[in-house]
Amino acid sequence: MAANLNSNVLIIGGGQAGFQTAHTLRAKGHVGPIQIIGDEPHLPYQRPPLSKAFLAGELNVERLFFRPATYYEQQNIDIKLGVSVESLCRTSKTVRTTDGTTLAYDVLVLATGARVRPLPDGICTKPEQLLYLRGIDDVQRLLAASTTKNSFLIIGGGFIGLEAAATLKKLGKTVVVAEFQPMVIPGLVAPELSQYLENLHRNMGVDVRTNTNATHVRSQADNGFDIGFGFDIGFADGIRLNVDAVLVGIGVLPNVEFGQAAGLKTDRGFCVDAQARTNDPNIFAVGDCAHGQNTWVSTPIHLESVQNAIDQASIAAQAILGSDKEYAAVPWFWSDQYHVKIQMAGLITDYDQTVVTGEPDDDKFSIFYFQNDQLIAVHTANHPVNHMAARRILAQAEPVTFADCTKHGFDGKALMNITK
Ligand code: NAP
Repeated sequence: MAANLNSNVLIIGGGQAGFQTAHTLRAKGHVGPIQIIGDEPHLPYQRPPLSKAFLAGELNVERLFFRPATYYEQQNIDIKLGVSVESLCRTSKTVRTTDGTTLAYDVLVLATGARVRPLPDGICTKPEQLLYLRGIDDVQRLLAASTTKNSFLIIGGGFIGLEAAATLKKLGKTVVVAEFQPMVIPGLVAPELSQYLENLHRNMGVDVRTNTNATHVRSQADNGFDIGFGFDIGFADGIRLNVDAVLVGIGVLPNVEFGQAAGLKTDRGFCVDAQARTNDPNIFAVGDCAHGQNTWVSTPIHLESVQNAIDQASIAAQAILGSDKEYAAVPWFWSDQYHVKIQMAGLITDYDQTVVTGEPDDDKFSIFYFQNDQLIAVHTANHPVNHMAARRILAQAEPVTFADCTKHGFDGKALMNITK
């Protein structure tokens, strides 16, 4: 696409990726109209603190916002909040919002994110009483619940489930985590890290149950009690449990429906190329709603992370301005649970060997992942030096090998000096 600093850019979604697209466009000289449509009533905000400091009541809501309202005025970014898009017409280059407005674009950026995956139908008798943790409003409900309720069942032992468990524990609550799979955070970390996290949570007093499946979540309100009398839970193995509240963290679903209906190709999100462009050259997709090419990896990927939202949105903005730069970034993530910072660099798909260094018992260790003797990822607990080293060496064009790591003693400072 030829450089056009004057195009009318419409961004659907006011999350990390939507904000970053607008911010990069203005920072890099776009002078045409930029509009952000967000379905939440809040200014664009950061999500990572939601399950941590914000849920702990340690952070005011204003501290979550990337920028105050004045930023959008000063940057001439028109932001409409509390408005959803219901349809897209690629022929007329317009979208229609649920309030009946039609908005035109030259370039459309889909930053629609993802929504929580609900507990399957039929399990909970009062689904409206379930708690979720995705946006500010969800956490405000959870915070309100935490002032009156003492025991929580968390369904799902992924990052949301474990981070929420750590925070609720900090608030003095009784917490049970029930995970479908034989281990927590299945597939995203090695069994060694999964086991470490289970032990950590158990040591902090969380009742972690794996290989378990809640088959009914019955609200006590069904028995004629007032709402707020808790839940009777039944598991597939016959075990029963009573809790005051249930938080569901069983994954997310990308918001692709109106784009899909307009003929945009999807996989685990809108299919995009290495510049975040969909099969329509005037439409980009970024962040949690996208599935595509990051040239650091050989196959298209879907990533739900802050790093991905920022880097992919920045590439899309540059592409809109005429750059041919491609998305090529080492994926990285982090998670804070109690006194432990877990940091993950690279992707662990198809690893065939791991090396653990350091001491899980001291809450400080690293896991190096290899595939065919090449380093593909490093996960660390309370070891930021190894994490930063991993990000640097994984970004190198020539792969770092098992022999290189052995030679440098799997030590971050020494590994950072590897230049190939
Ligand atoms: P997640 O990472 O997909 O984990 C959800 C877990 O719940 C999975 O292990 C899933 O197993 C399990 N599960 C599914 N249905 C279940 C059921 N009925 N009963 C018990 N367990 C069930 O999703 P999440 O923790 O909800 O997080 C949502 C998104 O936010 C993810 O993309 C996550 O990476 C992101 N997030 C990231 C961070 C971070 O980077 N620090 C923090 C919070 C959230 P299956 O895999 O078999 O479905």
